[in-house]
Amino acid sequence: DFGQVADDLGLNLFVVGGFVRDLLLRQENFDIDLVVEGDGIAFARRCAERFACRFRSHEKFGTAVIIFEDGFKVDVASARMEYYSRPAALPTVEYASIKLDLFRRDFTINTLAIALNRGRYGELLDFFGGQRDLKDKAIRVLHNLSFVEDPTRVFRAVRFEQRLGFRIGRPTEHLLRGAVRQGFVERVGGSRLFRELELILREPDPWPAVERLASFDLLRFVHPQLKLDKTLARVFAEASRVVHWYQLLFLERPCRPWLIYFLCLTSALGREAMAEACRRLNVPPRIARLVTEGREEALAVRQRMRRWRHRKKPPAASEIYRLLHPLERDLVLFVMSLAEDERIKQWISHYFNHLAQVKCELDGDDLRQLGIPPGPVYRAILDDLLNARLDGRVTGRDEELAYVR
Ligand code: ATP
Repeated sequence: DFGQVADDLGLNLFVVGGFVRDLLLRQENFDIDLVVEGDGIAFARRCAERFACRFRSHEKFGTAVIIFEDGFKVDVASARMEYYSRPAALPTVEYASIKLDLFRRDFTINTLAIALNRGRYGELLDFFGGQRDLKDKAIRVLHNLSFVEDPTRVFRAVRFEQRLGFRIGRPTEHLLRGAVRQGFVERVGGSRLFRELELILREPDPWPAVERLASFDLLRFVHPQLKLDKTLARVFAEASRVVHWYQLLFLERPCRPWLIYFLCLTSALGREAMAEACRRLNVPPRIARLVTEGREEALAVRQRMRRWRHRKKPPAASEIYRLLHPLERDLVLFVMSLAEDERIKQWISHYFNHLAQVKCELDGDDLRQLGIPPGPVYRAILDDLLNARLDGRVTGRDEELAYVR
């Protein structure tokens, strides 16, 4: 019981932010953020001792994570006042009250806190009208400079608005548009922009938020050429169908919906523009490679499949496999989202349903026992064997042996 630990240390303890918001909205939320008035790290350390679990701390920020055996995590922060000895110097941490901590948050609906100490357990703290705004279904900032102070909040405003089915309040919308118009968003580092965009694309249905971003002229921060049109809407709708279909069927082979949506969002950008977007957003190298070079390969695959439609004979299973197998799964799903033709969708769905897992039973050891001298020829034989299996020309191990012989 966290409250008891806090009592023992003589500290005030609160659960804050998204957890409280979602509790009042009766929505599930397993992200617990605690704020301690005082030394949050000492609190986390004591919790770790008491509950026989681990903890990690960031002394510089006065924060800690308590990590339970089963992987469950609780974030702990110290209510503190930041002041800057020099501009651009790291904040020196000074303890201060919970109210000040809550005042620095993005929106009123995220400023609610519940006391956890035993004497006042369950007491709701609402300094900034959070309950009112939950009732009004309104996203509101706490003060006029909020978006200037941290322009990533414009993306957060859109994300919360769409996720919760709320509306950005009038004055807040005004401030948001002002911050965009005055170029504050340009000053945000690429990585932070990309993270906010990713969070939006991680929502179950990101399309309405993308539309909203466009209405605030925020898509240009991904790339100036990006615009919202019918094609984009159609691709997104298709991607959403594809993702849901895939997730329902292939739980054990996860895909990354946000990445598929990112590929859709940027699908109108050419090769060079995409590379530019990656540079601008400081996209991590592995993702950047996937959405540039990987995407080019995916588009080539798409071209091939489109040509297949004009052939007399449908493609053999092994042809489908060889075409799709080298692509990362998310790219295959992207190709599927782009497909206007049912046949292309069917080939890809056949691949996931029946082909992706096919293996032959023989391996290199078997080939050696058959007396075939080891070398690059093994690869060729096993590839050929797999093709035969995919196309149903061999089935069991015996047939494979016969085939190789
Ligand atoms: P989610 O359900 O998406 O996790 P959350 O409210 O928990 O929603 P987080 O991004 O995890 O959101 O942030 C935790 C808390 O930290 C938020 O409730 C918010 O008050 C605060 N916060 C996060 N980012 C900012 C920011 N850029 N400016 C001000 N406060 C922020």
